[in-house]
Amino acid sequence: MILVSSCLAGLKVRYNGTHSLDHKISKLIKEHKAIPVCPELLGGFSTPREPAEIIGGNGEDVLDGKAKVIEKSGKDVTELYIKGAYITLERAKEVNATVVVFKEYSPSCGSSMIYNGEFIGEKIAGNGVTSALLKRNGLRVISEEQFADSFDGII
Ligand code: SF4
Repeated sequence: MILVSSCLAGLKVRYNGTHSLDHKISKLIKEHKAIPVCPELLGGFSTPREPAEIIGGNGEDVLDGKAKVIEKSGKDVTELYIKGAYITLERAKEVNATVVVFKEYSPSCGSSMIYNGEFIGEKIAGNGVTSALLKRNGLRVISEEQFADSFDGII
């Protein structure tokens, strides 16, 4: 089974109430080859919500207590991000996920690049919190862009 970001499946769960529909991924859902998950909703957020970024490091640093996830207005939401990551990990185990396709740049789902914590649209290399946890537990996490490039090798 493939675990995918809900927003890539077309669900309007992004912070601003939109989706990031990827047609290859929604096709996988229709074929029952993939299951959608949104770590932020699992952590307790609702839609819409404030945008948030990782301050002072990357997803691994958040898991290790060395960095925080902060909303644009300054509220510390680190614990909810960590909670969502652990629930997502449990979900991945329940469905025997073989690969995870997550939305790039998200502070939860980013798997190569995330925003730099200054809310200025600048990106840096790094994992989001959930991707970091899933990778630490041996799961293969790729972005929708990597998935598009290697579609035939994965399916
Ligand atoms: Fe999409 Fe992940 Fe953000 Fe949820 S947490 S809206 S699945 S990128």
